[in-house]
Amino acid sequence: MIPALMPTYNRADLAFERGEGAYVWTDDGRRFLDFGSGIATSSLGHGHPHLVKAIAEQAAKVMHVSNLYRVPQAEKLAARHVAASFADSVFFCNSGAEANEGMVKAVRKYHAENGHPERFRMICFEGAFHGRTLAMLAATGNEKYLAGFGPVVEGFDHVPFGNMNAVRDAIGPATAGIMIEPIQGEGGVRPADLRFLKELRSVCDEFGLLLALDEVQTGMGRSGKLWAHQWAGIEPDVMSSAKGIGGGFPLGAVLAKEAVAKHLKPGTHGTTYGGSPLACAAGNAVLDVVLAEGFLAQVDRVARHLWRGMVALAERHPTVVEHVQGAGLLLGLKLRPEIVNSDMQTACVAQGLLTVAAGMNVLRVAPPLIVTEVEVDEALAMLDRTCLALTPAKVMAPAK
Ligand SMILES: *Cc1c(COP(=O)(O)O)cnc(C)c1O
Repeated sequence: MIPALMPTYNRADLAFERGEGAYVWTDDGRRFLDFGSGIATSSLGHGHPHLVKAIAEQAAKVMHVSNLYRVPQAEKLAARHVAASFADSVFFCNSGAEANEGMVKAVRKYHAENGHPERFRMICFEGAFHGRTLAMLAATGNEKYLAGFGPVVEGFDHVPFGNMNAVRDAIGPATAGIMIEPIQGEGGVRPADLRFLKELRSVCDEFGLLLALDEVQTGMGRSGKLWAHQWAGIEPDVMSSAKGIGGGFPLGAVLAKEAVAKHLKPGTHGTTYGGSPLACAAGNAVLDVVLAEGFLAQVDRVARHLWRGMVALAERHPTVVEHVQGAGLLLGLKLRPEIVNSDMQTACVAQGLLTVAAGMNVLRVAPPLIVTEVEVDEALAMLDRTCLALTPAKVMAPAK
């Protein structure tokens, strides 16, 4: 019989009862070091006192009023996002896919309002992940995810990740913008070359296209800077964010330059839940922590420590790990073809470590941003034991 909870996931047989910082405990009392952060989402770890207090206090006052009224918590959060980013205006929603839908709508509207309704196509990249709604399945372009869900939504063209010639070739009279993750997350923790991101900015300027960044996974400090595109020294025209910005509370955002945002007038786009007092209280609490003096510098420092440790791990276990890739606290172990990432994920669980598999046989390591070097060392030791456990047995010469 089908489980009451629809079986869309292959879930590990673990149920967590509580968490504190980078640790979570199962209902039967086992402790795990959480280097998955609920898929790069629990940015402040578990039970962060400031976030818990903000949510509890706001929940007791008023959780939801709808966007028919002013929401001071949302006004404050938007103003802070504007102050801390390229954007002039922010739309709040509830998830990454919804933020991406809003972003693509914003791009299409911009061209339509500027007299070019025929410009609606987005250039996207192979290996991308943009979410599970019908349009974002099309933007993702992964055959595995598209299968069985009917005609693919029009308007998304795919080119190889990092290939500037292919991007130029794909630009046509219907092209509206370029949509890219600065680091492909689900696709295998694959960072775009910073030079490639700069070139995308120039080609957008050259052809009047909008640069739309999907920072759902890479934003809010995950890369060691507030936004991953800051490493490239560029600014997008519009950007989506979600995952870490609510610290585990569902919150998404579309951040846009005025030239784009000004066309999303009343009635053009909306959401019932988006930008509620409760969600924005969570978002403000996360910002309090992430924007505090020295926090991102600490993330960057710990991230470099993790990177060095993972590179050393890869060198010690060449039959398990090919190399390390990623940036900040979004790192991946690219595994040897003989080692399956989901097997390694399971083997990590046996050592007390949570990680997340990603595409291209990569094991994703994404601890909460509050992680310490001591916890990183503990995780590295667990990864080391996992690699030992997975090391293919050497064929021994028979003893004489
Ligand atoms: C997770 C993710 C999404 C989808 O977010 P949901 O909240 O699951 O809808 C979109 N883009 C990227 C880059 C993601 O990592």
